Amino acid sequence: MLRLTELRLPIDHPPEALLPAIAKRLGLAVADIVDFTVFKRSYDARKAALLTFIYTVDVAVSNEAAVLKKLGKDRNVGPAPDTAYRFVAKAPENLKLRPVVVGFGPCGIFAALLLAQMGFRPIVLERGKAVRERTQDTWGLWRKNVLNPESNVQFGEGGAGTFSDGKLYSQIKDPRHLGRKVLAEFVKAGAPEEILYIAKPHIGTFRLVGMVEQMRAEIIALGGEIRFQQRVVGLEIERGAVRGVQLADGETIAAGHVVLALGHSARDTFEALHGRVVTNGMSQYSRNERNANAGIVVNVSPEDFGGDAEHPLAGIEFQRQLESRAFELGGGNYDAPVQLVGDFLAGRPSTQLGSVEPSYKPGVHLTDLATALPPYAIAAMREALPAFGQQIKGFDMADAVLTGVETRTSSPLRITRGEDLQSLNIKGLYPAGEGAGYAGGILSAGVDGIKVAEAVARDLAGLQ
Ligand SMILES: Cc1cc2nc3c(=O)[nH]c(=O)nc-3n(C[C@H](O)[C@H](O)[C@H](O)COP(=O)(O)OP(=O)(O)OC[C@H]3O[C@@H](n4cnc5c(N)ncnc54)[C@H](O)[C@@H]3O)c2cc1C
Repeated sequence: MLRLTELRLPIDHPPEALLPAIAKRLGLAVADIVDFTVFKRSYDARKAALLTFIYTVDVAVSNEAAVLKKLGKDRNVGPAPDTAYRFVAKAPENLKLRPVVVGFGPCGIFAALLLAQMGFRPIVLERGKAVRERTQDTWGLWRKNVLNPESNVQFGEGGAGTFSDGKLYSQIKDPRHLGRKVLAEFVKAGAPEEILYIAKPHIGTFRLVGMVEQMRAEIIALGGEIRFQQRVVGLEIERGAVRGVQLADGETIAAGHVVLALGHSARDTFEALHGRVVTNGMSQYSRNERNANAGIVVNVSPEDFGGDAEHPLAGIEFQRQLESRAFELGGGNYDAPVQLVGDFLAGRPSTQLGSVEPSYKPGVHLTDLATALPPYAIAAMREALPAFGQQIKGFDMADAVLTGVETRTSSPLRITRGEDLQSLNIKGLYPAGEGAGYAGGILSAGVDGIKVAEAVARDLAGLQ
């Protein structure tokens, strides 16, 4: 397979123009091209009048050696790197204890899927409900302000990102192309194929639901088991190693390998959500909703947490305080506190909306956001908004609506694990995903799920 980079075509080219363009660029006849796949497609928008797509394509040709010889000095043509995924282990015939995966968000889904694909028949324990039922409960909050603490936007099949727009980019280092395995599984489960090659892919909330069901079906078909409404409350530990998982209903499931993919909202459920408000953007696949939305990220470090910054859970406590404050400012009924940018910059509370009609569900409450975040964060935002406005027209528009607060951009803690990805103090325990501090988004959580599944599989197959 050859890789051809920097192939430019006008943005409005018909799909069938790609094949002859590839052939021409390689100096071949169309008939010499056996097959091709688009690996990446990005835009060159430097000249508005000359918008172009820039393609990277992998091409199978009838005589690869001859083409490579002929174009040996061409820096845009070379052998395609091997990005195929290969399983690291196979389940032994006499597997005594099945691995257990706790949590069925993107990390748990990929951990379970990979374990199932390698023949390990995992048992998944998820505190929330299956995704369709969960969707109804989540709409219950958005429409009627009724919270089901075990089934909502954070908890349940699909995890935290299920009701997001499923943006799929990540900045993780990925030398083994595991992100591609995640994307390929998403496509197999119903995502649009273009997520494999476009620069900033996203799936859309309503597709995610069907995809999650599809991946669940594959795990079950491969001998895995998925149990909903099963909240894990403890672990049985014997001589420093996991022996079992305790459920809220009193049952204990024997297990020697447990993947803990709880997400970072798993500080205990009802307490975590009751009293608190968290926002995060979502949009549909069509991306044609009435408002554009963006988040402003202000970096914080342990010195900002206040109280006992050394405490391992200090970050969680800091996050909890911000969410409680947002709940109060929003009127105490899960509405989000909002303020117009003009009022925020002028330091006065908002009392009525302007030309922008917010789409936040279940609703919004006009207020003064000056106390929603620590003073240094408010000061940084007051300074930044006009500066952003100079770069992106309208960003600091007086009628634009600021919605608070997004506190879950990344996990407030990290559970340390060793090179074998097991907890440093408990053998057989694999802390994973966003909750453990090893992911920050759907794609990186999926990648971490794969890594952890591989580590479990190697251990169970006696390969390490
Ligand atoms: C509204 C919203 C929009 C987002 N949008 C995007 C986006 O567009 N793109 C992006 O990349 N990221 C987005 N994110 C972030 C992304 O969803 C998370 O990074 C990702 O879901 C983390 O995956 P995870 O599997 O580690 O944890 P989670 O997705 O949080 O999954 C953890 C699972 O564990 C379960 N669980 C927790 N405790 C227990 C227990 N005790 N017993 C059993 N089960 C338990 C939970 O119910 C949950 O299903 C968004 C998040 C939110 C909230």
